Amino acid sequence: MKDISANDLQNNIPLITRKDYRRIITTGSYTYNPEKIMIIAGPCTVESKSQIMEIAKAVREAGATMLRGGIFKPLTFPYGDPLGKSDADCDGQYLDRKTIMSKKELFARAETRLAYLKEAGDTYHLPVVSEILYAETAAMMSKYVDVFQIGYRHMFNMDLIEALANVNKPIILKRHYGESLRSLLGVAEHFEARGKHDIMFCERGVTSPHTHNVESRAIIDIQAIPALNEYAPTVPVLVDPSHSTFKRSYVAPVSRAAIAAGANGLLIEVHNNPEKAWVDPLQALGFNDFEKLVKEIDLIGKVLGRSV
Ligand code: PEP
Ligand code: MN
Repeated sequence: MKDISANDLQNNIPLITRKDYRRIITTGSYTYNPEKIMIIAGPCTVESKSQIMEIAKAVREAGATMLRGGIFKPLTFPYGDPLGKSDADCDGQYLDRKTIMSKKELFARAETRLAYLKEAGDTYHLPVVSEILYAETAAMMSKYVDVFQIGYRHMFNMDLIEALANVNKPIILKRHYGESLRSLLGVAEHFEARGKHDIMFCERGVTSPHTHNVESRAIIDIQAIPALNEYAPTVPVLVDPSHSTFKRSYVAPVSRAAIAAGANGLLIEVHNNPEKAWVDPLQALGFNDFEKLVKEIDLIGKVLGRSV
C-alpha cells in the first residue's frame, strides 16, 4: 500500500483534504456540530414495526442522535433472507424462506420496512440511517432515509457513488477492513469531484494476521481517527464498534476508546432483545447497556470539549 504523498494531497485528493472549508452536513432538522458526539443507534435489521418503534423510543431516551436500521442486508451467504430473516411478524404476513427473490419483490418488501423505519424516526424525532445496496433504489430510499450508509463491501462501488452523488442526503462511507486511508480518501474524492460534500467516514476495523477470530475480529484502527482528522479535518469520523468487534462485551470499551481518540461519533447496534436479533445477535447492545454507554461517552467527550 502506498503512503499518502504530497502529490496525492495536491492532485488526487485536494477537495476532501481541504482545511479551510465549511463542510455542511445537514438533513431535516439535524445539522452536524463538531462539539456534539453523534450517536447513531438501532438494530442491525428492521424486523417489524413494533420492534423499530420500541428501539427508537429507547435509544432516543438514552440520548441517541440518529436511528439506524438495516433493510437491505449484505449477507455473507445466500441462504438467508436478503432483508434479514424470514419470519412471521415483519408485516403481519408469513414470509416463506424464499432466499432468492426478484428485485421487484425485494424492493417492494424493503419499502414496507423503510416506511417502518421512517415512521419510528418521525415519531421519536430521529433522522434515520440505512445502508444502500442497489443503486437503482436511491430515489425510492430517499423518500424514507435521511442519511445513506455505504457498507464496507461497497466502498468502491461506482454505481452507488454515481447514484448518491445526486442525492441531497449525507453519506456515511465505511472503510473496508483491508483498505488504506488513501483509498478511503480517494473514494470520498469521487464524491467531492461530483459536487457532493456531505460525507462522513466510518472506521469499522482492519485485519491483521490474527484477526477474524472472536477475540480479534476486525481491529478498530484507533490511529485512523487522528490520521483522518489530520488529513480531512472537516469530515466527521465515526466508529462502528459493533461490526468490528462482533462481540457484545467489547462494544462499550471500544466505543470509549474511539471517543477518547477523537472520533466524532459512533454507529452502534442496539436491540430490544439482543440475543434474538435476526442478524448479528452476538453484538447488539440491550437498552440498559446502551444507556450506560451513552453516559460514559458523554463524560469522556467532555474531557475533550465534546458532549452527547
Ligand atoms: C451494518 O452497519 O449494518 C453493516 C452491515 O455494516 P458493515 O458494512 O460494516 O458490515
Ligand atoms: Mn449488523
